[in-house]
Amino acid sequence: MTRGSSTSQRQKATANQGGKLLNDELAEIIHQAVRDNRSYLMEHESKEILEGAGIATTGYLVARSEDEALALCERIGFPVAMKIVSPDIVHKSDAGGVRLNLLSAEDVRKAYRSMVETFKYQHIEGITIQRMAAPGIEAIIGVTRDPSFGPLIMFGLGGVFVEVLRDVSFRILPITEKDAAEMIEEIRGSDILKGYRGRPVDLKSLQQLLLKISRLVDENPEIHELDLNPLFLYSEGYIAVDARMFVREPVHTETTVTGAQNLHDFFYPKSIAVIGASDVKGKLGYNVFCNLISHQYPGKLYPINPGKETVMGVRAYKSIRDVPDPVDLAIVIVPAKAVEAAIADCCAKGVRFVVVEAAGFAESGKEGKEAQARIEAIIRKHGCRVLGPNCSGVINTHHNMVQSIGLLGDLKKGNVGMVAQAGVYAAGILTGLSNVLDFGIVATIGNKMDINETDILEYLSDDDHISAIVMYMEDIRSGKRFVDVASRAALRKPVIVLKSGRTEAGKKAVSSHTASLAGNDEVNSAAFKQSGVIRARDNEHLFALTRAFSKQPIPKGNGVMVITYTGSLGVAATDMLYLSGMRLAELEPYFQKRLKNALPEFANVGNPIDCSFSMTPEQVKNLIEIGVESGDVQSFIVVIQGEILGSFVDVMKSIDYKQKPVACVVACKEFMIHDVVKMEQAGFPVYSTAEMAAEVLGQMYAYGVRRQSALADSIARHLTKDNLSVDDMPVRLRLINSKDIGLWTDFVNSCSSKSLWLRFLSPFSATPERAQRFCNVNPEEEVALVAEAETGDQHKFLGIARLIKNKRREGEAEYAIIISDPWQNKSLGITLSEQCIELAKKEGYKTIRAETIQQNHAMIRIFRRCDFSFDGKDENMVSMSLNLS
Ligand code: ADP
Ligand code: MG
Repeated sequence: MTRGSSTSQRQKATANQGGKLLNDELAEIIHQAVRDNRSYLMEHESKEILEGAGIATTGYLVARSEDEALALCERIGFPVAMKIVSPDIVHKSDAGGVRLNLLSAEDVRKAYRSMVETFKYQHIEGITIQRMAAPGIEAIIGVTRDPSFGPLIMFGLGGVFVEVLRDVSFRILPITEKDAAEMIEEIRGSDILKGYRGRPVDLKSLQQLLLKISRLVDENPEIHELDLNPLFLYSEGYIAVDARMFVREPVHTETTVTGAQNLHDFFYPKSIAVIGASDVKGKLGYNVFCNLISHQYPGKLYPINPGKETVMGVRAYKSIRDVPDPVDLAIVIVPAKAVEAAIADCCAKGVRFVVVEAAGFAESGKEGKEAQARIEAIIRKHGCRVLGPNCSGVINTHHNMVQSIGLLGDLKKGNVGMVAQAGVYAAGILTGLSNVLDFGIVATIGNKMDINETDILEYLSDDDHISAIVMYMEDIRSGKRFVDVASRAALRKPVIVLKSGRTEAGKKAVSSHTASLAGNDEVNSAAFKQSGVIRARDNEHLFALTRAFSKQPIPKGNGVMVITYTGSLGVAATDMLYLSGMRLAELEPYFQKRLKNALPEFANVGNPIDCSFSMTPEQVKNLIEIGVESGDVQSFIVVIQGEILGSFVDVMKSIDYKQKPVACVVACKEFMIHDVVKMEQAGFPVYSTAEMAAEVLGQMYAYGVRRQSALADSIARHLTKDNLSVDDMPVRLRLINSKDIGLWTDFVNSCSSKSLWLRFLSPFSATPERAQRFCNVNPEEEVALVAEAETGDQHKFLGIARLIKNKRREGEAEYAIIISDPWQNKSLGITLSEQCIELAKKEGYKTIRAETIQQNHAMIRIFRRCDFSFDGKDENMVSMSLNLS
């Protein structure tokens, strides 16, 4: 009669085989559907699978007769919902196949008869009888697939109106706990979930559900698409009210064989052959060779030209095969029809890298496409890596190498790496931008037959000359690898992307809600967010960001000091700061007094600091030097009058900013470009609006926060023990983060003054400024491990251990620990210390040093237990150390 109790027994008996979410029998339902060429699983089948994965649903029992329906109601209890079961009906309520809130046997009999009547001309398998779910907040979770990125998961609000509201967020599978949290945070209606006008929904279980769906699809690639719509969210738990899955043979999205190979020699070749090098001005082969010569490429050059003895005075060869020495890289700039033979020659010669600048391939129709495919076959066979065709090569100012098609003048060596699809775009912006930005490497990828944006990104993230990466992209190949590589790259340096085609809507024929909502741009956005890539709106924003990221340090806090000559631009900056997650720094009375002295009598001391029209460079210098000393000021916006901008350059350069960034604003700067260029070259980004300056600082700060938290996560993964129990209380070990200010403050307040004194060796109390400093740590310099107890909704710290990098002694870290009084002598200190030592090893430290006073017996005991050795005594102090190598 039903898929009922027998199946749930089945699930229990065999659940979790081989660590998979689904047992074999449930996975078999999916396989069988694929074999039967069925495209989708009906609600009851989908829900059985979901239940098997531990996801709560309203049930999946199916009645095939009126009596069966009644028997099932007995088991479930009233009220019930009844829905039609038919492989031909995807949208049940549209077809009149859903009856809700049936309260009695009478209701159910009536409904059964009328449904059978309604669908008498259709193939129906029965009617599901399920629990009525209590009303909750209607949400949707779905999965769809993208040809480049593979499976994507969607979360949103809306139920029936989901397509209209479009309040959804996407991520590429598989997702992490953090991704799940961000997906929920990102939707416009997230405040509703957090309890706006009501009780908050159970965000924890919602996150777990997202993770489960991610895992389910990841483990079962036959699930092509999936919709849970609606999903009811409650203050405790959730329930999937409707579900369907679309299944098919798994598709493999990754087709490229690129990646994972080191491109160092491609960017720093020791010798270059230019096939098609020419002496004739105006020819592209002339430009390319001339660029290499005029920028003084330091390696060997071999012009290849069958009709010449020399090109620009350099000995030429008829074919690359005639070159007697090995060649690292060949540039091909000959007519399209000669390219194939040239590449075959390169392969025969054993050249590992070829740059095809010639055009006339996949971009120009059928014949070109075929030619490109033939070339691809040749290079794959020989393992030769190719950039292009239809590109403008690579510029590497750190190797004096300019391969561009257009003649380029002097370029300074810089720290910006750029990937552009079109050579013309790169050339067009390069000339102008080289006034205000110094590039390290610029790569144009053209048709990206082989080497693509992700390969270049991967290399740029490794190159120490590069500290900011800019990508101008038209499409993303093998998106899944992009997310992977970009996530790692963004941990090392900022990656700023301009992706064209933002508004392009998804044009796919779709059956699921999720697929209809997954337009190309939603997917790209998700990929960028997930990998921590910064997305620019347009060219101007792209280079506004790049100028700041490449010239200025990342702000360490969100307090900003705004110095202006006009109140109105100060207000504009302020508004945008708050919209960008920043705020005006609060100056302590001591600093306020100093500011007053630095300003004319009539000026109002506050932040923004309005110097009015009397603003001078020296005055600004004084103000900045005061701000540099304040703990709450972590960056500056300086609004300068265009007429006197020139007088600021040298003074601004003479200030020691102590790693706090500054952005300048000059209204209508495009009309005083001469002095703007001077400022930019001195290292100060100049924006024509205060809003842009504020927004850019906000994006830098957000990048820093994200990066720190991702680094902290990667460190925390090395904990070998993160759960323990102390006096039967569960205790979690984790790294401290900037959201812990409250917990840290409570912890310090709960410690006895003696404990605090033993840890800090002076009287110590919690202040907001200290809380900031102790919670907001840079994981590259400091690791703070906390032991946190959770009882109900209450969290508290029981102890904190810190490893602080010794900047003066390579490979050394200082160690300190404090345990709150009632939790001392319960071996918590030893566990925290052991884990810190574990992290220190993984972070590559060679020695850990600790210092304490002789009376601190508890601490000395912990250090001894952890094998620290005794280094010496000095008056009242004991020094101990642990050798890790
Ligand atoms: P379909 O999407 O195929 O039209 P659903 O199963 O989503 O059909 O049902 C339509 C609507 O009926 C749902 O959006 C939900 O509001 C309501 N509904 C369906 N099943 C239940 C149930 N078991 N409990 C409460 N409400 C339900
Ligand atoms: Mg539905």
